[in-house]
Amino acid sequence: MSELEHPGWCDITHCTATVQKPEYRVGETGYHRSVPVTLARMPIVGFTVFDAELNPVTVHLTEAAPPWDTGPVLNLGTADDPAAVSLPVAHARAVLDQLADLVAAAEKG
Ligand SMILES: [Zn+2]
Repeated sequence: MSELEHPGWCDITHCTATVQKPEYRVGETGYHRSVPVTLARMPIVGFTVFDAELNPVTVHLTEAAPPWDTGPVLNLGTADDPAAVSLPVAHARAVLDQLADLVAAAEKG
């Protein structure tokens, strides 16, 4: 059985990944997970007002441990729902570019 390799961004204290067992079931191998990053300048999502200390919006990376091949995923959410928005990293740059274009348009006026 091979040794479990963690991505460079994985934080062992947040990681739930385990080595694949011979008779594993779905979900048993866990997820690599990064340290959550708090988005201090995101006070409102939908109709909910967030407080950076009491109810922060956080972002973290996850990736299912083998044999699943999800690739890394960027998750945005709260303590109660840390993956309210999940975005595959393979598509994240294009989405961020779209958001940057909207921000630039708004700043332009
Ligand atoms: Zn890990």
